[in-house]
Amino acid sequence: MSKQVLEKHKGKVPKTFEELEKLPGVGHKTASVVMSQGFGYPAFAVDTHIHRLAQRWGLTNGKNVVQTEKDLKRIFSKKIWSKLHLQIIFYGREYCKARDCYGLSCKICTTCYPNRKKPVITKKA
Ligand code: SF4
Repeated sequence: MSKQVLEKHKGKVPKTFEELEKLPGVGHKTASVVMSQGFGYPAFAVDTHIHRLAQRWGLTNGKNVVQTEKDLKRIFSKKIWSKLHLQIIFYGREYCKARDCYGLSCKICTTCYPNRKKPVITKKA
């Protein structure tokens, strides 16, 4: 990848999704992280944590990461996408881990879904 950046982009990281996604090993998620965290462009990268939490929080049906990204972008203002992306990842790593509570324990889910009785089984990214 670094060879391509040097040869095709004069050593500068490209600033468009199209160019980034043409680089070897760079998919839409990585391109979204570079665009938002590197260049300040509003993007909402959906990794495994965000995909899981969005399902547990009832923000998407978890069909796939493409749908999850669409749903989150529809629900939240563009202005907060980049920050929210990081906040959800950190929350997921620290408090809402893949093999933990499944939506029945902490304040977020018990407040939003007081009638929830069964664990939320999330679909993988
Ligand atoms: S109750 Fe809390 S820890 Fe459990 S799934 Fe919901 S947000 Fe995550």
